[in-house]
Amino acid sequence: MSVKDKPPRSRSRLIANILFSIAGLFLLINLLFPQLFGNPIPRVPYSLFIDQVEDGKVSRVSVGQNEIIYELKGEEGQPGQYLRTTPIFDLELPKRLEAKGIEFAAAPPPKNSWVGNILGWVIPPLIFVAIWQFFLGRAGGGGPQGALSFTKSKARVYVEEDANKVTFDDVAGVEEAKAELAEIVEFLKTPQRYKAIGARIPRGVLLVGPPGTGKTLLAKAVAGEAGVPFFSISGSEFVELFVGAGAARVRDLFEQAKKKAPCIIFIDELDAIGKSRAGSGFIGGNDEREQTLNQLLTELDGFSAGDATVIVLAATNRPETLDPALLRPGRFDRQVLVDRPDLAGRLKILEIYAAKIKLDVDVDLKQVATRTPGFAGADLANLVNEAALLAARNQREKVTQADFYEAIERVVAGLEKKSRVLNDKEKQIVAYHEVGHALVGAVMPGGGKVQKISIVPRGMAALGYTLQMPTEDRFLLSESELRDQITTLLGGRAAEEIVFGSITTGASNDLQRATDLAERMVTAYGMSKVLGPLAYEKGQQTNFLGDGMMNPRRMVSDDTAKAIDEEVKEIVETAHQKALAILKHNRDLLEEIAQKILEVEVIEGEELQNLLDRARLPEQVPATV
Ligand code: ADP
Ligand code: MG
Ligand code: ZN
Repeated sequence: MSVKDKPPRSRSRLIANILFSIAGLFLLINLLFPQLFGNPIPRVPYSLFIDQVEDGKVSRVSVGQNEIIYELKGEEGQPGQYLRTTPIFDLELPKRLEAKGIEFAAAPPPKNSWVGNILGWVIPPLIFVAIWQFFLGRAGGGGPQGALSFTKSKARVYVEEDANKVTFDDVAGVEEAKAELAEIVEFLKTPQRYKAIGARIPRGVLLVGPPGTGKTLLAKAVAGEAGVPFFSISGSEFVELFVGAGAARVRDLFEQAKKKAPCIIFIDELDAIGKSRAGSGFIGGNDEREQTLNQLLTELDGFSAGDATVIVLAATNRPETLDPALLRPGRFDRQVLVDRPDLAGRLKILEIYAAKIKLDVDVDLKQVATRTPGFAGADLANLVNEAALLAARNQREKVTQADFYEAIERVVAGLEKKSRVLNDKEKQIVAYHEVGHALVGAVMPGGGKVQKISIVPRGMAALGYTLQMPTEDRFLLSESELRDQITTLLGGRAAEEIVFGSITTGASNDLQRATDLAERMVTAYGMSKVLGPLAYEKGQQTNFLGDGMMNPRRMVSDDTAKAIDEEVKEIVETAHQKALAILKHNRDLLEEIAQKILEVEVIEGEELQNLLDRARLPEQVPATV
């Protein structure tokens, strides 16, 4: 908040406080001393009143529901004293009064004095206003023009002029993302060129990737490359806002951005606003977030063709939680993956940060990059700084290789909890496992062509992966192709068995998928000779059992169930033996590729094809167990 805002804000505070105090004081006085505003008449016991009536001392009585007020006879025509008493339930009273010839009447409902009356009407609204003012003041920088302008003044927007200093040169190891974003830069620089052809300029680009991989940095770099202003806001800022303020802020953000177009709006941590509405457990969900999200959707849709070029970049590391409405065409329909860097990428990032410190001649950054698989850009930046700190602490002028190694250990210790940094043994297992998939896949044509092997922990789940792509679009698969796929799935586990003689938990997903496929071959596709062409699966239809579990299978006899299990087991086990046979036959090649991938982490393209072309099918593949 700027200094200018201060006086009006503290003034409204002051007013609120004064109102509070006055209101409180009046209420207190009215409660404690009602007679000040009401009746200063002395109260007497009822028995005394009756005595005075019997003694003929009373001249007039006014009987109310809760109170009796009466006047004593005055001396020589003077008005007498007024007294009051609290009545008891006394049906005889009128008779007594009549008998003594006392003037009496029912009193009108008790009336407060005018002061009390006015206060009763005026104070409650004042209190509400005061409370309102008070909370507005707290919600952040109370508006000087009063209540109606508050939403507008709440919308803080950051224009980072010096973001223009960041360029693509400051970002490394995410070459694919940079290439895709280079196009966005073109849009921003020369929108006319695209509009002249009638092309719709993309509006929303979502940067997806693990934390610290440089999403925020990339967004700034796009602005820097294009030389346009950069409006940035973080999703988490919206979360704790006053109801309605989030939506107002979004509206303001877009309004201001349009005035400065061409420009970039960057919404960091989009998942904080954009969580799937369907998934928000409670009935009613989170209203504030929902309103903010709806406003964002409205703004994204609100650009018209003639509008100035405003490109909305957003970042998230949890794309799976986003509301699908955000990803529809015309909104964040472009997604750019910003992943952890591979060896070459890590080296480049290290070079960027090492250029800023003094290095000893013995420093070999390639070695550092080799030892840091799984590190994101932020981890590497941190690593270089740690190394420099170590050197400085030991009064050295330059950073040595040993400093780097020690820094790696420190960073890894910190990382272990939050991400997967593999130790050497694990890395070896992953390498052989993935090469196992690749080799089996290479000689089993049913699964498609192996495109890439990687042991860089990628994305959110896999430790390594083997990318296999069908060579053509396939809709029908033959039995032998399915068997090939199952064999390839088991290749990873088979490699672990052959090389290490033991198996790890890393293969469980493979086994799951292989077993599922085999089961479908038997129960859905009728590919089993024993069970024949019967569909034991019930298709889409669901069949609820008593305990709420679903039973996708037709009711079958125990014998059939047993036969299905045996068939599934036979298919998987045959595939397993086949995978083992293939890998044993190509043992040397397995070794060669595994060593290679441990060195470079990623093998793809022609290099990979040349290696895999050397794989051979053994003459005798076990047909069945
Ligand atoms: P994210 O937004 O993906 O969580 P940031 O962009 O905030 O990550 O990265 C934090 C810091 O880490 C950056 O400011 C930068 O110093 C460094 N960094 C991260 N990724 C890279 C990269 N690919 N190249 C260079 N520096 C990076
Ligand atoms: Mg970030
Ligand atoms: Zn696997």
